[in-house]
Amino acid sequence: MAAPASSEKPGTLAPGTLAIVNVGLMLSGDLGKPILGADTLLAKDGRITAIGTRADCDVDSADKVVDAKGVTLCPGLIDSHVHPVAGDWTPRQSQLNWIDSSLHGGVTTMISAGEVHMPGRPKDIVGLKAMAITAQRCFANFRPNGVKVHAGAPVIEQGMEEHDFKDLAEAGVTLLGEVGLGSVKAGDEAKKMVAWARKYGIQSTIHTGGPSIPGSGLIDKDVVLEADADIIGHINGGHTALPDDQIVCLCSQCERGIEIVHNGNERSALLALRTASELKQLERVILGTDGPAGSGVQPLGILRMVAMLSSLGDVPAEIAFCFATGNTARMRDLDCGLIEVGRSADFVLLDKAQHSAGKDILHSVQLGDLPGVGMTIIDGIPRTQRSRNTPPATTLPEMVRA
Ligand SMILES: [Zn+2]
Repeated sequence: MAAPASSEKPGTLAPGTLAIVNVGLMLSGDLGKPILGADTLLAKDGRITAIGTRADCDVDSADKVVDAKGVTLCPGLIDSHVHPVAGDWTPRQSQLNWIDSSLHGGVTTMISAGEVHMPGRPKDIVGLKAMAITAQRCFANFRPNGVKVHAGAPVIEQGMEEHDFKDLAEAGVTLLGEVGLGSVKAGDEAKKMVAWARKYGIQSTIHTGGPSIPGSGLIDKDVVLEADADIIGHINGGHTALPDDQIVCLCSQCERGIEIVHNGNERSALLALRTASELKQLERVILGTDGPAGSGVQPLGILRMVAMLSSLGDVPAEIAFCFATGNTARMRDLDCGLIEVGRSADFVLLDKAQHSAGKDILHSVQLGDLPGVGMTIIDGIPRTQRSRNTPPATTLPEMVRA
C-alpha cells in the first residue's frame, strides 16, 4: 500500500509558533459558549497558547502565519465511531486513503469502535487481545496525514475474565470495540465485562439496534441499559434502529453518551436529538460515521451529520458543531476538540460553500448545506489546503508565512 508522503509518527509537533489571524468566526466546541469573540489564535509546539484579538497576540514573532481571510475556525472534527483495520486501507470496501479523505472532510481525530473488518479476525481470547494491542500500536505509530486514530478496540468474546481486561489495559488498550459484535450479547455477561473494562480504565461502547451485517445480532434497550457501557453506540442504529419508545427510554433512563451516526437511521437520529434536547442534556450527544461500513466510506459524514441535525433538528449550527468536537472530547477524555489554551492545536478552517443560499456559514448549515473546508491543521501543522471533497469554500485561508 502506498502511504501518503506526509504520514508521520505521532509526537511530531510543529516546532515553534503558529499564528492564525483574521478569523471571521471562532467556534469553540463548547456548548456553554459556542462562539468566541476572538479573531486571532496562537499555538506553540502543537498546543494553543493564546486566543484573542490581534492586538492581544504576538503575531509578529510567529514562525508560521495563516491568514484566515475572514473564514471560520472550528476545532478539528472528531469521528467517534470508525472501524479502521490497517494503515489507511479498509478491506470493507477495498479502499485506500479513506482516512486522508476524511481529513478533507474536516476530521482530525477518529475513535475506533473495533477493528471488526480485519480479514480473518481472531475470536479466541489470546488472538483478540493480540490483535487489539497490535492495532493500538500500529495507529499510535502511524498517522495518515497526521490524523489521530485511537484504535486497538477489542471485540469482547465469551470466556474473557477480569485478568484479560487488566492485561489489555497494561498493554495500552483504552477502548472496547462495540459490545455485542462478538459472542457477548446477553446483558448480564456484557455488564460484567464492561465493569471490568471500566475498573482498568478502558472505555466502552455498545452496539445498539439490529444486526449490521450477516453474522451480527440485535441489541435492544434492555441489553444496552443492563450492560451500562460508557457510550450508547449508534443509538440511531447501524443500520437498523430500535423502535422509537426504546430510543426515548435509552436517552431518559441512563446518563451515558448518545452517539448518533451517519450510517444509521436519520429519522431515529432526529428523535434521539430531540429527546436529548427535551432532557436538557445536549452535552451527551456525540457524532460518528460508523464508516467504513456497508454503506461505504463517508469522508464528509461528520459534516453531513452536523448539517442534517442542524437543518432538520432545529439546532443552531454552532451547537451542532459542538456535537462533533467538544462534546466528544470531554466524553472521550481527549486533549483536542475545544478552543482553549493548552489544548491540541487541531483545527478546521471552513467557509460557506460557493452559491449556498445561506447568508453566512452558520445560516448555510442551518439550511442543510455543507460548508467548504479551506484548510486543516493538526498539532499546529497545516495538513491540507482546499478540500478535494467538500463543495468549494467561498473564501480560502492562505499561508502567508510558512
Ligand atoms: Zn455497530
